[in-house]
Amino acid sequence: MQTNEIIEKAEEFCKKHNLTGYPVKIVDLCLAEDIQVFERYLPEEVSGFIVIQEEVFDGYGTGRLIVVNLADSPRRRRFTIAHELAHYILHKDENLSYYAHRDAGQNGGDEKEANLFASNVLMPHTFVNECVERLGEPPQYLLIDYVADKFAVSKDAAQVRLSQLFPKICRCGRKSRRFRCSLRRRRMTSLSRFSFGSPSDRGTCPPVRSG
Ligand SMILES: [Zn+2]
Repeated sequence: MQTNEIIEKAEEFCKKHNLTGYPVKIVDLCLAEDIQVFERYLPEEVSGFIVIQEEVFDGYGTGRLIVVNLADSPRRRRFTIAHELAHYILHKDENLSYYAHRDAGQNGGDEKEANLFASNVLMPHTFVNECVERLGEPPQYLLIDYVADKFAVSKDAAQVRLSQLFPKICRCGRKSRRFRCSLRRRRMTSLSRFSFGSPSDRGTCPPVRSG
């Protein structure tokens, strides 16, 4: 998919959900797409995953869910939720079950697309412009901190977004962590074999209601 196409899809998505302010309520956007979000401790290398299938996913009470690792910071969790939601919007196939998880490693094509979509949804350009205009021309590091705080994203995510929107004032100097995400699409058969924690643990995990 072309970069412009992904940006357009992200803008359409924001328009559809009528985003009115920031930090963007990413959990509410998932709920609006009928996807529940859960936060729980996952293996260290896993940031989160998404499951879309007809039947209930083992222990969660739904077959449409995103789970994020509680061990990650709240800002990082927000990005993971947006990234998983991006897979749903960009890469889903109505006839196939869908599973993806995000962990430390290298970015593939779908991963870059999901990151770009996530970044555009969490930091829509009109809001970022507004924010930057308000601040005038501060030193680069202040701008990154300011945008990271206002949009509740990590400094790495803020820097990447600023460098896309304002390449002259914000060059990508920081080395950001790279992520790999495994994608699996399959016919409507159970995906519940992908186990992260035991089902009995999951029973005690309520969905996130808003945010
Ligand atoms: Zn991914």
